[in-house]
Amino acid sequence: MTRARFAPSPTGMLHIGALRTALYNFLFVRHTGGKLILRIEDTDRTRFVEGAEKDFIQMCRWAGIEFDEGPDIGGDVGPYRQSERTEIYRKHAEMLIERETAYYAFDTSEELDAMRERQQKAGIVPKYDRSSMRNQFTLGDEETRRLLDGGVEHTIRLFVPLTGETRTHDLVRSESLFANRLIDDQILLKSDGFPTYHLANIVDDHLMGITHVIRGEEWLPSLPKHIIMYQAFGWEPPEFAHLPLILNKERKKFSKRDGDVSVEDFVVKGYLPEALVNFIALLGWNPTADREIYSFHEMIESFRLEKVNKAGAIFDNDKLDWMNGMYLRQLSVERLVEDLQPLLEKAGFENVDPGHASAVVELVKERINFVHEVPKFAEYMFGPVKSFDEEYHTKQWKEGTSDQMWELNSRLEGIDEGNWNSKEIEGVIRGYAQELEISAGKLIHPLRLSLTGKRVGAGMFETMEVLGKEKTIGRIQDYLEKH
Ligand code: GLU
Repeated sequence: MTRARFAPSPTGMLHIGALRTALYNFLFVRHTGGKLILRIEDTDRTRFVEGAEKDFIQMCRWAGIEFDEGPDIGGDVGPYRQSERTEIYRKHAEMLIERETAYYAFDTSEELDAMRERQQKAGIVPKYDRSSMRNQFTLGDEETRRLLDGGVEHTIRLFVPLTGETRTHDLVRSESLFANRLIDDQILLKSDGFPTYHLANIVDDHLMGITHVIRGEEWLPSLPKHIIMYQAFGWEPPEFAHLPLILNKERKKFSKRDGDVSVEDFVVKGYLPEALVNFIALLGWNPTADREIYSFHEMIESFRLEKVNKAGAIFDNDKLDWMNGMYLRQLSVERLVEDLQPLLEKAGFENVDPGHASAVVELVKERINFVHEVPKFAEYMFGPVKSFDEEYHTKQWKEGTSDQMWELNSRLEGIDEGNWNSKEIEGVIRGYAQELEISAGKLIHPLRLSLTGKRVGAGMFETMEVLGKEKTIGRIQDYLEKH
């Protein structure tokens, strides 16, 4: 059985890139019939943010991602918060000492700084120099024991062989070879007794039976070190899949400077979970070349780690908005009206009749991407026209336009209240245009201006139907009197 994990560090609200990592893990386990574990990597207490864990769970749930094991969810291999597992890491670091694949080091931070400075001056890449620093190798076992017994501050470091190469395998990037002499003797246990990310991460992946590690590309440089750690423990490493970077339109790493980055920002802005999930699923993967809209079920069906791209994925906000519109149009009018009602009130339109709201939604939904666009896009449907596009008036109003509009208005007035529908309205307008031997547009543009104040909008005949006879006639008359 496959077991994957989402292992965020609670250092802030859930980032959109982290949501993609969670999603790919989720799609993978649902596709393979496995389990998804939530593990909170909270050993770095200096960067800990209160409430972040709750936000992760809430945002994942909003997106439709559920965990099978995790803190407050349960499971046999917990606890699932690393801060509750420190004893386990200490024991495992000591296990490596016994296997002679890790060692004690007693260097102070001043000594380490001096080492780095020496190396920089000599033009070599800074890296822990096992042969010249104060550690188990240079001090000997007896002195090491004496210092440990005396309670001297120390770290435990990974022993990386100076010769040979380490081979890594990644499901997205296949094989790579790294020279061991370039890999640092990573600190595993810090002087405060807390593990580093690397130790805790590997120990937990092993103890929690993780078969597939699916995570962001920023962890790729750590992979050779992680493989050496697996070898140091004598453990079989899991499979790895590193997901491509998310880039902005300038092909730079997508960051706070690009606007919204936390999932919550997108929720607040009115994105639908289905749209956001569909969009981020395609940041690095697409099952077919000719489609972009996939249901959750379809994504699960076709998800393959081997199909994930290596190249960075561009975060295109316009595409996301378009996708939101696609999903919005699939929702029932009832649901859209439910979401619209509080927005209408906020915009100052009180007590809008639900029947009228439904008709307006039906009318404009092809032209919007968000429900919150309705009050602005069609404000003239909920209250009087606030302002008229005067520039457009100058363009549209020719000699004779007013007379034609007066005449058209009286013909519209002639339509029976019970027959006030788009078909009838269209018949009257087109009929009159024909009589005048002008195109219907010559009447429709001035009409739109007098009824909505704008130059573009939803279909005119339908708009007039929804607006109702009384308002239509009144507005045209009003406009003609004032212009
Ligand atoms: N805690 C790490 C992070 O926040 C997890 C990396 C991993 O998945 O191994 O990105």
